[in-house]
Amino acid sequence: MTNYENLLLKAYNSIPKKALTQERFEVPKVDSFLQGTKTIVKGFNQLLDSMRRDKKHFIKWLMKETALPISEVNNQLIINGKVNSYQLNKLIESYFKQFILCPECKKPDTKVITEGGTKLLKCEACGAIKSVSGL
Ligand SMILES: [Zn+2]
Repeated sequence: MTNYENLLLKAYNSIPKKALTQERFEVPKVDSFLQGTKTIVKGFNQLLDSMRRDKKHFIKWLMKETALPISEVNNQLIINGKVNSYQLNKLIESYFKQFILCPECKKPDTKVITEGGTKLLKCEACGAIKSVSGL
């Protein structure tokens, strides 16, 4: 290997991994377990951090989707019924697709803005603005 190649390799290795793999966003997965007839979902705050959304909106949406009462206790979601991890992560994925990921560039860097009384999804990465029902 020449010195030049060595230098290139060094430069490549010093680029943060994130910069190289930013094209596809991974929807976070949560851990859950059953406790009697309830489902306990761990790490709710971490999930919220990655969503950057009003937690009430998410909980309300999840209650509608599962048709089960849900409460939040100590960084955990308590679902009053049995939901397996696979179903739960599928639901979270669909929440991200509906309310978070930019429809244009698929990045999660979006926020909810209000314009003329209408709630819209604005992408901070590409600038796209989109109306999303149920926002
Ligand atoms: Zn975008």
